Amino acid sequence: MTAPRLDIDLGAVAHNTRTLVERLAPRGIRVTGVSKASLGSPSVAAAMLSGGAGGIGESRMENVARLRAGDVHAAFMLIRSPMLSQVDRVVRDTDLSLNTEGVVLDALSAAAVRQRTTHDVVLMVELGDLREGVPVDEVVDLAATVTRRPGLRLVGLGTNLACRSGVVPDQNKMDELSELVEKVEAAVGERLTVVTGGNSANLDWALATSDVGRIDDLRLGESILLGTEPLQRQPIDGLRTDAFTLVAELIEVKTKPAQSWGDRGQTAFGHEPDRGRPGLVRQAIAAIGRQDIDPDGLVAPPGMAVLAASSDHLVIDVGDHDVTVGEEVSFGLGYGALVRAMTSPFVTKHEH
Ligand SMILES: *Cc1c(COP(=O)(O)O)cnc(C)c1O
Repeated sequence: MTAPRLDIDLGAVAHNTRTLVERLAPRGIRVTGVSKASLGSPSVAAAMLSGGAGGIGESRMENVARLRAGDVHAAFMLIRSPMLSQVDRVVRDTDLSLNTEGVVLDALSAAAVRQRTTHDVVLMVELGDLREGVPVDEVVDLAATVTRRPGLRLVGLGTNLACRSGVVPDQNKMDELSELVEKVEAAVGERLTVVTGGNSANLDWALATSDVGRIDDLRLGESILLGTEPLQRQPIDGLRTDAFTLVAELIEVKTKPAQSWGDRGQTAFGHEPDRGRPGLVRQAIAAIGRQDIDPDGLVAPPGMAVLAASSDHLVIDVGDHDVTVGEEVSFGLGYGALVRAMTSPFVTKHEH
């Protein structure tokens, strides 16, 4: 098999989805499986759907196109605000989009009218993380405008926390969203059926609270794919953390001084040079680099450690492992490393 490669265990993706769906269902919360970190892999999305996800969330229209071409039949939610330049595609290829801008809503409305169809709209509310969202005091007005636009149907509200600023989605934030839902319903005289409370960072709250309020949907990516929650990056009880494994091949294995010598400037990527410790190290180089992964997000096998990386070389302390040139080494991945490995054309994807 070729190296480097990402081994993707679809059974683990389905298991993680099913476990989360079963834990959230009694609380009245559906799971939208977010496949963006897999670049819209049809098999990953299919695994999420087989695990009980109610729909698929995607950030990019290219990924939605890949899913549709791969015969994934699901409700598609565009979770990044539509680009003005893509409204026709958004209306054609997705069922629902998350929105914050009046001008985009106008364009979606025009596109839906042109296509003689209806597009569902969720308004995203800014609750303090300071990424996307309509200010709280403007939500009711914008919601009312959506209901007046031909071709658009206001179906709900949502929010996204813990992404730009790490703001925790706690009971207060979720209560605030639920209260807004009721204000909007009172103003527009219709019931909202999609209240999407957040991403994997909401799980701590959702699984512990005795009051989910009006929240009825979570958009889950990292927790399904990696089995971890994004606030402390801890494994979630009962989930598999080995759905994705990165395999790289060793191209050099030597015992070297642990400390570099000679005058020192910056490293290839502008980091302060690490002086290293005295003594010797059993060091291996894997044929993969920063172009393909984020070295800080790699989890080396027990007894090994990632020492450094440049564009094409990953330097590993292999400890007492008796490794040889040509051998493969497997790593676990954090979210950043996963996204980069998925995006690298040099890393083949092996789904099984
Ligand atoms: C990426 C993203 C998600 C999924 O986040 P995870 O932490 O991977 O669960 C949900 N909603 C929005 C708006 C996103 O951008």
